[in-house]
Amino acid sequence: MHETLIVGAGIAGLACARRLQEAGQSTMVVDKGRGVGGRCATRRVDGQSVDHGPAFLHGSAPGFVSALRETPGRRLEPWPAKVHGSGRPCQPSAFAPGQVRLAFGDGVNAFAKHLARDLDVERECRVDALAFDGDRFRVVTADGERRPSTLILSLPLEQTRGLLDTLGEDSPEIRGVRQLLSMVSTVPSLTILSGYAADQAAPDWDVCYPEDSPVLQMIAHDSAKRATPRSHVLVAQAHPRWSRRELENDPDGWKQAMLVELERVTGLPESSRLWCQAHRWRYARLDAGSELAQPLMVQVAGARLGLCGELFSPGNGVEAAWLSGTRLAERIIGERDWTATR
Ligand SMILES: Cc1cc2nc3c(=O)[nH]c(=O)nc-3n(C[C@H](O)[C@H](O)[C@H](O)COP(=O)(O)OP(=O)(O)OC[C@H]3O[C@@H](n4cnc5c(N)ncnc54)[C@H](O)[C@@H]3O)c2cc1C
Repeated sequence: MHETLIVGAGIAGLACARRLQEAGQSTMVVDKGRGVGGRCATRRVDGQSVDHGPAFLHGSAPGFVSALRETPGRRLEPWPAKVHGSGRPCQPSAFAPGQVRLAFGDGVNAFAKHLARDLDVERECRVDALAFDGDRFRVVTADGERRPSTLILSLPLEQTRGLLDTLGEDSPEIRGVRQLLSMVSTVPSLTILSGYAADQAAPDWDVCYPEDSPVLQMIAHDSAKRATPRSHVLVAQAHPRWSRRELENDPDGWKQAMLVELERVTGLPESSRLWCQAHRWRYARLDAGSELAQPLMVQVAGARLGLCGELFSPGNGVEAAWLSGTRLAERIIGERDWTATR
């Protein structure tokens, strides 16, 4: 049986599992999705990869940057090389001095796949509930229960809260965790992916932050990352406030409003549009500044519960996710080494 069960194969959960595995600890990761990477997401549309979460990866922590650069395949660095518009970036820290910015020819999800190599990852395994039976957590999935000696939740804020709520009457430690989590909040992002005929003139930028759009915060020229693009692909993210307002409205309505704005800003004609998809990220990012400083580890009777994910590291985003998972693993490894020498 695996000592540690990690729920969530996003960047945080995978980084945690990698570090634990390197230290010789047996670890299993489960995720409800068909693939790994969570919000670090790439999908195939019309025969090419399209990043519909973060358009590029950025950071400055040496371990994180090395992990990015170890990812096999075509790497574009720096990316974006050409930034257009003076609107506020979704994550302004991405453009601070000393930040590495890069993308992958196969999509940002290549990083997650690389982290997941050689790990025990069970996909399409949703955790429905948690229970506590005195000395261990019970983790309930559709195909049964697991009782790991250490349980790690590496999930977005709302899913972490949801699973903790299933514990019912909880201990003072879990109540403390809930209180901490109540200080954090997230923002949604409505996103469209749109393909245009290759015979049209493509935008001459990689990323655009329009200064005059009430709707769009960012447009990524996604096909500029691909070696042999079949069409021009643009991915547009709406402003957080606009996304919040439209979140529960008919997707056809907000998709159309975003398309009109995308084509106004880029000058690409509607007649050259080949396809369009919409994605509603309900919990895309954290409200800047609301994140916590450290991953958490609580002891409830004999059982241990760890929490990591982007919300447990300053700065939020992919780098924060990786750091939180790595730091939590270091802590578990350190505690074990200390116990072994007592
Ligand atoms: C549109 C968009 C743009 C972004 N732009 C940027 C950017 O420019 N820069 C940046 O740094 N970051 C950006 N981010 C944020 C970045 O993607 C996240 O911070 C990061 O990927 C979070 O990683 P994580 O491991 O903490 O969580 P996640 O990636 O959310 O991973 C959590 C995993 O848990 C799984 N899961 C959830 N519930 C269950 C359950 N009950 N049972 C089993 N598995 C479960 C999910 O399937 C998922 O795989 C953006 C995100 C979005 C959506």
